[in-house]
Amino acid sequence: MAERFEARNILITGAASGIGLAVARLLAAEGAGRLILVDRDAAALGALDLGVETQRVLGDVADERMWDDVDLSGLDHAVVNAGIAGAGPIATLDFAEWRRILSVNLDGAFLTLRAAMRAMAGRGGSIVLTASAAGIKAEPGVAAYGCSKAALIHLAKVAAKEGAGDGIRVNAIAPAGVETPVWDAVPMFAERVAQIGRDAAFAELAAMATPLGRYAKAEEIAEQIAFLLSDQSALITGTTLLADGGYTL
Ligand code: NAD
Repeated sequence: MAERFEARNILITGAASGIGLAVARLLAAEGAGRLILVDRDAAALGALDLGVETQRVLGDVADERMWDDVDLSGLDHAVVNAGIAGAGPIATLDFAEWRRILSVNLDGAFLTLRAAMRAMAGRGGSIVLTASAAGIKAEPGVAAYGCSKAALIHLAKVAAKEGAGDGIRVNAIAPAGVETPVWDAVPMFAERVAQIGRDAAFAELAAMATPLGRYAKAEEIAEQIAFLLSDQSALITGTTLLADGGYTL
């Protein structure tokens, strides 16, 4: 039986860590022909060994000029995934911090999506944007991050309508907590890790507001992204898969 991603050319941003890395590993194992892996972490990107043909692109997804040099010919799938976390109440949030988060999470996603849709024009393909449950449920302190992810959910819908005529499907996934290094940048989490250890800190966070009582593993989210990319979801477009353990209920 043919593998789901046999000989497919696939772009993944934020591929050197967390969810992006788990997707890259899964798609490599499922027959991908060429992975185009974008990340700004040179050491982590250089260390990747996935056993398939890879094109590594070191750069910032929010840098418009970077995309001019990325060869996306023959692109079949794209995972628009690079993102950063950041928190702070609106009243005290620096404009520079707002811009920093919107720049990577929204501008970077737009530039990635545009490049992918240009490469897929006339030949079709499928795209998944990594949004977040924070883009659906309002919580204090997540204005910048939450708005960037709410925008991605809408961007997926607009892109789905625009791409449909070309056979391009575009969907989003909205996880709540996922056990990845992105949390290390959250001071409250780093403090708890120092006090009680990483696993217990994740368990404590999940217990606060996740009915199913735990955060996701990156590999679980990767499986769901692969489903949305694959021909198994051939009639699904413009949707957001809420993969949040019930957090938004
Ligand atoms: P991660 O920090 O483990 O991985 C993110 C990767 O993106 C890193 O390798 C980083 O170097 C790269 N990156 C960041 N900014 C970049 C830029 N400007 N240009 C190129 N590469 C860049 O985090 P993760 O949890 O795997 O996050 C992946 C996506 O999932 C993000 O969009 C994040 O917002 C989203 N998400 C994460 C969670 C969670 O709890 N971990 C929940 C919901 C959504």
